[in-house]
Amino acid sequence: MTETPLPPELFQLRIDPQAPLVIVDVDEVLAQFMRGFERFVVSQGYEMRLERFALFQNLYRAGESEPLDIVTGRRLFDAFFDLDRHEIEVAPGACESLRWLARRATIVILTNAPASSRPARARWLIENDLPYTLVVGQGPKGRAVAALAARTRGPAAFVDDLLANLESVAVEAPRVRRFQMVADERLRDLAPAARDRHQRIDDWPQLAEAIAHALELWTR
Ligand SMILES: [Mg+2]
Repeated sequence: MTETPLPPELFQLRIDPQAPLVIVDVDEVLAQFMRGFERFVVSQGYEMRLERFALFQNLYRAGESEPLDIVTGRRLFDAFFDLDRHEIEVAPGACESLRWLARRATIVILTNAPASSRPARARWLIENDLPYTLVVGQGPKGRAVAALAARTRGPAAFVDDLLANLESVAVEAPRVRRFQMVADERLRDLAPAARDRHQRIDDWPQLAEAIAHALELWTR
């Protein structure tokens, strides 16, 4: 299996070599992606029925009982990300929580959104009061997280909604503390979790407290 190359920007970032580091995903962690994507697919004449923790298998032609084929689903997904403006709300409490953590830690935002959507993504972050370094990667996030964590002697934490990314970080960067967060309350019961391996907290203020505690941000 060939490994996806790490994003070159990862090595050019300025990361405080002494400070703790918090690496955060965007969609369904900082951003209520599913709600935004749902509005978009409805505007295109489709329906979203949240029955699974999956993207395309929840998309239907209005009134039909079989989910959309993957090609059409993928086309809608790409079209949504190609929009100049990403009409997505911030997860409740995310801005305040990151601002608080940023007083003691470096914040890096690590997303697997399509690379072509980077300018829109960067703008979305700025407009929503999330002015942190953005890294756009692809594939399982473990190696990128390991490379980021290696840039500081401080402790590091990682937050994502997807178990695959958390497992990848557990393998590639075992010393990084892992947290699972699912922003959309409709998806929470559907999202696979492994609470014995990755702490699961779906509420930003509580999550920020847990990260601060794990990294000893105020007690080191
Ligand atoms: Mg995500």
